[in-house]
Amino acid sequence: MKIAILSQDASLYSTRRLKEAGEAQGHEMRVINYLRCYMNITSHKPTVVYNGNELENFDAIIPRIGASRTFYGTAVVRQFEVMGVFSANESQAISRSRDKLRCLQILAREGIGLPVTGFAHATQDIDGLIDTVGGAPLVIKLLEGTQGIGVVLAETHQAAKSVIEAFRGLDANILVQEFIKEAKGADIRAFVIGTKVVASMKRQGAEGEFRSNLHRGGMAEKIKLTPEERSTAVRAAKAMGLRIAGVDMLRSNHGPVVMEVNSSPGLEGIEKASEVDVAGKMIDFLEKNVKLGKTGDRIQY
Ligand code: ADP
Repeated sequence: MKIAILSQDASLYSTRRLKEAGEAQGHEMRVINYLRCYMNITSHKPTVVYNGNELENFDAIIPRIGASRTFYGTAVVRQFEVMGVFSANESQAISRSRDKLRCLQILAREGIGLPVTGFAHATQDIDGLIDTVGGAPLVIKLLEGTQGIGVVLAETHQAAKSVIEAFRGLDANILVQEFIKEAKGADIRAFVIGTKVVASMKRQGAEGEFRSNLHRGGMAEKIKLTPEERSTAVRAAKAMGLRIAGVDMLRSNHGPVVMEVNSSPGLEGIEKASEVDVAGKMIDFLEKNVKLGKTGDRIQY
């Protein structure tokens, strides 16, 4: 097959591994910087042009769209879809997953376990918002944050109120969430491909840190998931319409709760921690599904 990896940087671990894994399985792999593509939007012959050449005869694309480039990146993915090319994740599903609030609303609709969450922009009723999630301690998140930036633990009602007021002053959209204390600064990432969890890891935050992000000094290790955690991860990916997803969960007293579903999950942490060839499994998945010619997102939200 001829497969394009849509990535801004060919030297990134995930991009390199996907290229290697595809080539090892006999495929022609090309890394395409989607920001440098332009599109010819016609119904007669839609095309994507890169470095002056039309990108033709691709069987599949693997989108690795940066969070800050969602708008243009998903437009390029959509153009490939218009051309009938199979995408590891479809443009609609990527856009959907990029909005934390939309993501939680979709998961809630499917009855998937979530931390109790409130959403606000400029509420006057801060006490009411805090009560919605069961009072302090609680977690306040900037809707636009990534890598743990803009995620704050407020230990007291007063602290929560001050932080919410500060964010309100900045005109930011915020999520207010029940603090899952029993997770003890750890979260779990399940890597879902199709209808299976193919690899998983536990990330533990640095000493005294409730955020487990690897970018914040967290450590990753291999972990075996419970059947409930596996099925929660698979259901979450399916609810979002993602074929490939990194599902982040916390272990709460009432079972796994999903924090986020990521449409371009990184490969470095998970491959190293789990010792699974995740890139190879993504290529296997493409091989099976391109043959079946499966396309079409059927989620309505
Ligand atoms: P980001 O998308 O910026 O990484 P997350 O929502 O994933 O933000 O939060 C970062 C980290 O903070 C998580 O990996 C988790 O360890 C911790 N965390 C987030 N929400 C909660 C919560 N409700 N209870 C306990 N810990 C949380």
